[in-house]
Amino acid sequence: MGSLTPKPVRRPTSTQNSDPESLLTKLVIYNSLSKEKEDFIPFQDDGVRIYTCGLTVNYLMHIGHARCYIFWDIVDRYLRYLGFKVKHVSNITDISVDDNILKRLSETNESFQRLVTRHTQDYIEDRRCLGIADPYIYSIATQHIHEMVELVEQLLDRGHAYIADDGVYFRISTYTKYGQLSGIDPRSLRTGASGRITKDEYDKETVGDFALWKRASPDEPYWHSPWGPGRPGWHIECSAMSMKYLGETIDISGGGEDNIFPHHENSIAQSEAATGKPYVRFWMHVRHLMLNGERMSKSTGNFITAREAITKYGASVVRLSLLSSHYRKQMDFTRTLVAEAEGKIRQLQHTIASLRFFFEKKTPTQTTDGLISEKVENVEKQFRTAMNDDFNTPLAITQLLQFINSFNQHLDKYHKVGSQLARKILPIIERISAVIFGELYEKELAPLYNPDTRQLIEFMLAKREKLRQERKFSQADVLRRILNESSIAVIDTPNGPIWWKTALPVLKEA
Ligand SMILES: [Zn+2]
Repeated sequence: MGSLTPKPVRRPTSTQNSDPESLLTKLVIYNSLSKEKEDFIPFQDDGVRIYTCGLTVNYLMHIGHARCYIFWDIVDRYLRYLGFKVKHVSNITDISVDDNILKRLSETNESFQRLVTRHTQDYIEDRRCLGIADPYIYSIATQHIHEMVELVEQLLDRGHAYIADDGVYFRISTYTKYGQLSGIDPRSLRTGASGRITKDEYDKETVGDFALWKRASPDEPYWHSPWGPGRPGWHIECSAMSMKYLGETIDISGGGEDNIFPHHENSIAQSEAATGKPYVRFWMHVRHLMLNGERMSKSTGNFITAREAITKYGASVVRLSLLSSHYRKQMDFTRTLVAEAEGKIRQLQHTIASLRFFFEKKTPTQTTDGLISEKVENVEKQFRTAMNDDFNTPLAITQLLQFINSFNQHLDKYHKVGSQLARKILPIIERISAVIFGELYEKELAPLYNPDTRQLIEFMLAKREKLRQERKFSQADVLRRILNESSIAVIDTPNGPIWWKTALPVLKEA
């Protein structure tokens, strides 16, 4: 894809007081650049352009990363739900080499290439396990060295970069808006920015001209360039790849809050210096995830990988847990949080199974249906209003669960709903769940069995019913246990047993 036809960039409008009425129809996003909530309108009519920073594939993804990627999946899915076309590019950094990696490689005799290939596969697999959709393009850094070299040349031509002994550097004093995202005062930089920074990550106190291209040291992986063998700096990869696939100005970009400085600050500087155009219209950043009240850290061992969490708690529980706080709020991943998410998923599964049951049974309309049908009207409106307010997933989930609760209570009291009502509610729950859970809705929340297996389960349940009528309860319990051990949850109702396939362990009856 070539660069976009130049068009004036429509500036977003700041919206400090979003009222619920207008939130029903318009999406408002907190922009980390302006530090304000702004109305979201895409830059081009043909869709929303999103670029997100993916994993540096030196290690497995941890649950802090998972929070971030699940959130981006929500943004992507919700924009589609609203009817936008979405072009989402997410990078995979397979270049970054640090001392830890070089040490690991020398200990294990594994080549750098093999290590990153292995972790790239793990990364994509973990994402899919969590119900995260693959982006439009996974842009892999090492496949875009040419584009990065071209961008560095462009910066050299325009006088924003210079060649030093150990590589090519961006001269931050040539970009007067430096600091706009992270809040660094450029005036203080002019006096303090005499030095250069080789590292990709550094703190605000050591700001300086940053590396665009690094000359290779012995034993390091390298690529060829006009400045000799070396490797690109981390920041240049995101600018080069987003421009290649999405054009010079994109709608939304972001990552974790750690990325604000220096990564995104430097990305803005080099992109806008090279093109003279705005780079990203909306910057969004996801806050840290804590683990049991402490910051996650490899060195202290307070750390859990996404796949450990998935194995231990189940993917949908991990996903729902990580969405239970607003993305701009710090959250703590604890056993209590996980237990709450488990409970919510069980409630949802119960509701979906009941709705399917009454729908399939072709139950006539009940006089009590009206009591629940009024509430149904509001479910999707509440979902939109919450999500349109800067992707307020905790509110959206709470409101969905409130409806689920009142539906389950309704069934406890009146035992039945008409199939027409069930047919009305099911698609609403499916549409909302498709955003919240992604592929996990069909995989874990509401999976279906093939007809033969269904027949076998129905046969076992009918047999169990007969045993119960004959008061042979212990034999009936054996059948129930077999079903439970095969991940089938069974609830007895006055209309007969309602069952569903569960991805979570079946709870023992109280
Ligand atoms: Zn990036």
